[in-house]
Amino acid sequence: MHAFELGFAPIDTIPANAVVFAFHHNQIVLTASLPLTGEQWLASQLTHLPGSLHCIGMADSGMPCFTLRVEVETLPAPLETISLRAALLNWSPAMIEAVSRAFQLLEWDRTHRFCGQCGTTTQPKAHEHAKQCPSCGYVVYPRLSPAIMVLVKKGRQLLLARSPGFTPGAYSALAGFVEPGESLEAAVHREVMEEVGITVTNLRYFGSQSWPFPHSLMIAFVADYAGGELSPDGVEIEDAGFYEPDALPGLPYKLSIARHLIESVVAECSTQ
Ligand SMILES: [Zn+2]
Repeated sequence: MHAFELGFAPIDTIPANAVVFAFHHNQIVLTASLPLTGEQWLASQLTHLPGSLHCIGMADSGMPCFTLRVEVETLPAPLETISLRAALLNWSPAMIEAVSRAFQLLEWDRTHRFCGQCGTTTQPKAHEHAKQCPSCGYVVYPRLSPAIMVLVKKGRQLLLARSPGFTPGAYSALAGFVEPGESLEAAVHREVMEEVGITVTNLRYFGSQSWPFPHSLMIAFVADYAGGELSPDGVEIEDAGFYEPDALPGLPYKLSIARHLIESVVAECSTQ
Protein backbone atom coordinates (compact mmCIF):
# COMPACT_ATOMS: atom_id res chain seq x y z
CA MET A 1 0.00 0.00 0.00
CA HIS A 2 1.50 3.32 -1.10
CA ALA A 3 -1.37 5.69 -0.40
CA PHE A 4 -4.43 5.73 1.80
CA GLU A 5 -7.36 8.08 1.58
CA LEU A 6 -9.84 7.92 4.42
CA GLY A 7 -13.49 7.79 3.60
CA PHE A 8 -16.85 6.26 4.34
CA ALA A 9 -18.93 3.88 2.28
CA PRO A 10 -22.04 2.05 3.42
CA ILE A 11 -20.82 -1.28 2.00
CA ASP A 12 -21.34 -4.55 3.81
CA THR A 13 -19.81 -6.95 1.33
CA ILE A 14 -16.06 -7.22 0.94
CA PRO A 15 -14.74 -7.30 -2.67
CA ALA A 16 -11.84 -9.61 -3.60
CA ASN A 17 -9.37 -6.72 -4.07
CA ALA A 18 -10.09 -5.20 -0.65
CA VAL A 19 -7.56 -4.72 2.16
CA VAL A 20 -9.00 -6.20 5.36
CA PHE A 21 -7.77 -5.03 8.74
CA ALA A 22 -9.19 -7.89 10.76
CA PHE A 23 -8.68 -7.67 14.52
CA HIS A 24 -8.58 -10.67 16.82
CA HIS A 25 -8.32 -9.84 20.54
CA ASN A 26 -6.89 -6.41 19.58
CA GLN A 27 -4.21 -7.99 17.39
CA ILE A 28 -4.12 -7.51 13.62
CA VAL A 29 -4.64 -10.69 11.60
CA LEU A 30 -2.00 -11.29 8.93
CA THR A 31 -1.14 -13.83 6.33
CA ALA A 32 2.44 -13.89 5.01
CA SER A 33 3.09 -10.78 7.15
CA LEU A 34 0.41 -8.67 5.43
CA PRO A 35 -3.21 -7.79 6.17
CA LEU A 36 -5.65 -10.09 4.39
CA THR A 37 -6.97 -9.31 0.95
CA GLY A 38 -10.71 -9.52 0.47
CA GLU A 39 -10.18 -12.80 -1.35
CA GLN A 40 -8.19 -14.27 1.54
CA TRP A 41 -10.77 -13.10 4.05
CA LEU A 42 -13.58 -14.76 2.11
CA ALA A 43 -11.54 -17.96 1.65
CA SER A 44 -10.82 -18.10 5.40
CA GLN A 45 -14.54 -18.62 6.07
CA LEU A 46 -14.15 -16.57 9.23
CA THR A 47 -17.01 -14.32 10.28
CA HIS A 48 -16.99 -10.85 11.81
CA LEU A 49 -18.79 -9.76 14.94
CA PRO A 50 -22.19 -8.39 13.96
CA GLY A 51 -21.99 -4.63 13.42
CA SER A 52 -18.18 -4.51 13.51
CA LEU A 53 -17.60 -4.25 9.75
CA HIS A 54 -16.74 -0.77 8.46
CA CYS A 55 -15.33 0.58 5.21
CA ILE A 56 -12.61 3.00 6.29
CA GLY A 57 -11.29 4.39 3.00
CA MET A 58 -9.42 3.57 -0.18
CA ALA A 59 -5.87 2.33 -0.73
CA ASP A 60 -3.90 3.06 -3.89
CA SER A 61 -6.91 4.66 -5.60
CA GLY A 62 -8.90 1.46 -6.04
CA MET A 63 -8.66 -0.98 -3.16
CA PRO A 64 -11.37 -0.39 -0.55
CA CYS A 65 -10.15 -0.91 3.02
CA PHE A 66 -12.22 -2.52 5.74
CA THR A 67 -11.97 -2.99 9.44
CA LEU A 68 -13.72 -5.75 11.38
CA ARG A 69 -13.50 -7.81 14.53
CA VAL A 70 -13.09 -11.55 13.98
CA GLU A 71 -15.67 -13.73 15.68
CA VAL A 72 -13.63 -16.80 16.60
CA GLU A 73 -11.78 -17.91 19.72
CA THR A 74 -8.69 -19.37 18.02
CA LEU A 75 -7.41 -18.34 14.59
CA PRO A 76 -6.85 -21.16 12.10
CA ALA A 77 -3.36 -21.66 10.62
CA PRO A 78 -1.65 -20.17 8.68
CA LEU A 79 -3.14 -16.90 9.95
CA GLU A 80 -0.91 -15.01 12.37
CA THR A 81 -1.22 -11.79 14.31
CA ILE A 82 0.80 -8.68 15.09
CA SER A 83 0.20 -6.03 17.76
CA LEU A 84 -0.85 -2.54 16.73
CA ARG A 85 2.33 -1.16 18.29
CA ALA A 86 4.50 -3.52 16.24
CA ALA A 87 2.58 -2.57 13.10
CA LEU A 88 3.22 1.13 13.74
CA LEU A 89 6.93 0.40 14.09
CA ASN A 90 7.27 -1.64 10.95
CA TRP A 91 4.67 -0.60 8.39
CA SER A 92 4.67 2.12 5.72
CA PRO A 93 3.11 5.54 6.50
CA ALA A 94 0.01 4.74 4.40
CA MET A 95 -0.48 1.41 6.17
CA ILE A 96 -0.03 3.09 9.54
CA GLU A 97 -2.64 5.70 8.72
CA ALA A 98 -5.08 3.02 7.62
CA VAL A 99 -4.54 0.67 10.55
CA SER A 100 -4.74 3.52 13.07
CA ARG A 101 -8.10 4.49 11.65
CA ALA A 102 -9.20 0.85 11.50
CA PHE A 103 -8.38 0.27 15.16
CA GLN A 104 -9.93 3.52 16.42
CA LEU A 105 -13.19 2.95 14.59
CA LEU A 106 -13.46 -0.58 15.96
CA GLU A 107 -12.78 0.62 19.49
CA TRP A 108 -15.40 3.33 19.13
CA ASP A 109 -17.78 0.70 17.82
CA ARG A 110 -17.14 -1.63 20.75
CA THR A 111 -17.54 1.07 23.39
CA HIS A 112 -20.63 2.81 21.98
CA ARG A 113 -23.03 -0.07 21.54
CA PHE A 114 -25.57 1.57 23.84
CA CYS A 115 -26.94 5.09 24.03
CA GLY A 116 -25.19 7.08 26.75
CA GLN A 117 -28.37 9.03 27.31
CA CYS A 118 -31.05 6.32 27.60
CA GLY A 119 -29.28 2.95 27.34
CA THR A 120 -31.00 1.74 24.14
CA THR A 121 -28.87 -0.25 21.65
CA THR A 122 -27.44 2.22 19.11
CA GLN A 123 -27.64 1.78 15.33
CA PRO A 124 -25.15 2.85 12.66
CA LYS A 125 -26.09 5.98 10.72
CA ALA A 126 -26.46 5.46 6.99
CA HIS A 127 -24.05 8.02 5.53
CA GLU A 128 -21.26 8.58 8.03
CA HIS A 129 -19.29 6.96 10.82
CA ALA A 130 -21.79 7.75 13.54
CA LYS A 131 -24.25 5.88 15.72
CA GLN A 132 -27.73 6.99 16.54
CA CYS A 133 -30.11 5.95 19.28
CA PRO A 134 -33.40 4.81 17.72
CA SER A 135 -35.23 5.72 20.91
CA CYS A 136 -34.11 9.24 21.83
CA GLY A 137 -32.22 10.28 18.67
CA TYR A 138 -28.87 10.90 20.42
CA VAL A 139 -25.95 10.73 17.95
CA VAL A 140 -22.36 9.78 18.80
CA TYR A 141 -19.32 10.23 16.58
CA PRO A 142 -15.95 8.48 16.82
CA ARG A 143 -14.15 9.79 19.85
CA LEU A 144 -10.89 11.74 19.62
CA SER A 145 -8.91 12.94 22.62
CA PRO A 146 -6.62 15.88 21.77
CA ALA A 147 -3.38 16.00 23.70
CA ILE A 148 -0.65 18.63 23.49
CA MET A 149 3.06 17.93 23.40
CA VAL A 150 5.66 20.63 23.90
CA LEU A 151 9.42 20.68 23.58
CA VAL A 152 10.75 23.57 25.66
CA LYS A 153 14.02 25.23 24.59
CA LYS A 154 16.32 27.18 26.88
CA GLY A 155 19.02 28.57 24.62
CA ARG A 156 20.36 25.47 22.91
CA GLN A 157 19.15 23.14 25.64
CA LEU A 158 16.02 20.99 25.42
CA LEU A 159 13.70 20.16 28.29
CA LEU A 160 13.20 16.40 28.42
CA ALA A 161 11.34 14.51 31.10
CA ARG A 162 10.29 11.01 31.98
CA SER A 163 7.10 9.56 33.37
CA PRO A 164 7.20 6.50 35.62
CA GLY A 165 5.55 4.45 32.83
CA PHE A 166 8.26 5.10 30.21
CA THR A 167 10.71 2.39 29.25
CA PRO A 168 13.81 2.59 31.48
CA GLY A 169 16.13 5.42 30.48
CA ALA A 170 13.70 7.03 28.01
CA TYR A 171 12.96 10.76 28.13
CA SER A 172 10.54 12.78 26.03
CA ALA A 173 8.89 16.15 25.54
CA LEU A 174 6.12 17.10 27.98
CA ALA A 175 2.58 16.10 27.05
CA GLY A 176 -0.93 16.03 28.42
CA PHE A 177 -4.60 15.95 27.49
CA VAL A 178 -6.50 19.10 26.61
CA GLU A 179 -9.23 19.89 29.15
CA PRO A 180 -12.83 20.70 28.16
CA GLY A 181 -13.13 24.40 27.42
CA GLU A 182 -9.38 24.86 27.02
CA SER A 183 -7.41 26.11 24.00
CA LEU A 184 -4.31 24.21 22.84
CA GLU A 185 -2.15 27.13 23.90
CA ALA A 186 -3.66 27.23 27.38
CA ALA A 187 -3.17 23.47 27.68
CA VAL A 188 0.55 23.89 26.88
CA HIS A 189 1.03 26.55 29.56
CA ARG A 190 -0.98 24.59 32.14
CA GLU A 191 0.73 21.24 31.54
CA VAL A 192 4.23 22.72 31.66
CA MET A 193 3.44 24.52 34.92
CA GLU A 194 1.74 21.47 36.48
CA GLU A 195 4.39 18.96 35.47
CA VAL A 196 7.64 20.86 35.95
CA GLY A 197 6.72 24.25 37.48
CA ILE A 198 8.06 26.63 34.81
CA THR A 199 6.56 29.18 32.43
CA VAL A 200 7.07 29.21 28.66
CA THR A 201 6.58 31.67 25.84
CA ASN A 202 6.71 31.97 22.05
CA LEU A 203 4.75 28.81 21.17
CA ARG A 204 5.30 27.47 17.62
CA TYR A 205 3.11 24.78 16.11
CA PHE A 206 5.18 21.78 14.98
CA GLY A 207 2.76 19.13 13.74
CA SER A 208 0.24 16.52 14.76
CA GLN A 209 -0.12 12.75 14.79
CA SER A 210 -2.96 10.33 15.30
CA TRP A 211 -2.06 8.11 18.23
CA PRO A 212 -4.47 5.18 18.41
CA PHE A 213 -3.90 4.13 22.04
CA PRO A 214 -6.82 4.28 22.09
CA HIS A 215 -7.95 7.54 20.44
CA SER A 216 -5.50 10.38 20.95
CA LEU A 217 -4.56 13.15 18.59
CA MET A 218 -1.15 14.53 19.53
CA ILE A 219 -0.61 18.21 18.69
CA ALA A 220 3.02 19.21 19.09
CA PHE A 221 4.62 22.58 19.79
CA VAL A 222 8.03 24.09 20.41
CA ALA A 223 8.22 26.78 23.10
CA ASP A 224 10.90 28.88 24.78
CA TYR A 225 11.66 28.82 28.48
CA ALA A 226 10.41 31.97 30.19
CA GLY A 227 10.99 31.54 33.92
CA GLY A 228 10.87 29.42 37.05
CA GLU A 229 12.84 26.56 38.60
CA LEU A 230 12.45 23.04 37.23
CA SER A 231 10.51 21.03 39.80
CA PRO A 232 9.05 17.74 38.56
CA ASP A 233 5.66 17.04 40.15
CA GLY A 234 6.80 13.54 41.20
CA VAL A 235 3.58 11.95 39.94
CA GLU A 236 3.35 12.35 36.18
CA ILE A 237 6.98 13.40 35.89
CA GLU A 238 9.65 11.67 37.96
CA ASP A 239 12.65 13.40 36.43
CA ALA A 240 13.24 16.34 34.08
CA GLY A 241 16.23 18.30 32.92
CA PHE A 242 17.63 20.63 30.28
CA TYR A 243 19.89 18.70 27.93
CA GLU A 244 22.48 19.82 25.40
CA PRO A 245 21.53 18.65 21.88
CA ASP A 246 24.69 16.52 21.66
CA ALA A 247 24.19 14.86 25.06
CA LEU A 248 20.60 13.62 25.02
CA PRO A 249 19.27 10.77 27.15
CA GLY A 250 17.29 7.84 25.68
CA LEU A 251 14.52 9.03 23.34
CA PRO A 252 11.01 7.83 22.38
CA TYR A 253 10.70 5.33 19.58
CA LYS A 254 11.42 6.45 16.05
CA LEU A 255 7.99 6.82 14.51
CA SER A 256 6.47 8.86 17.31
CA ILE A 257 5.87 12.57 16.84
CA ALA A 258 7.85 13.09 20.05
CA ARG A 259 10.93 11.66 18.34
CA HIS A 260 10.33 13.76 15.19
CA LEU A 261 9.89 16.85 17.32
CA ILE A 262 13.09 16.27 19.28
CA GLU A 263 15.17 15.38 16.22
CA SER A 264 13.86 18.35 14.29
CA VAL A 265 14.78 20.81 17.05
CA VAL A 266 18.19 19.15 17.50
CA ALA A 267 18.84 19.53 13.76
CA GLU A 268 17.81 23.19 13.98
CA CYS A 269 20.21 23.71 16.90
CA SER A 270 23.10 22.20 14.96
CA THR A 271 22.70 24.77 12.18
CA GLN A 272 22.63 27.73 14.58
ZN1 LIG B 1 -31.07 7.10 23.61
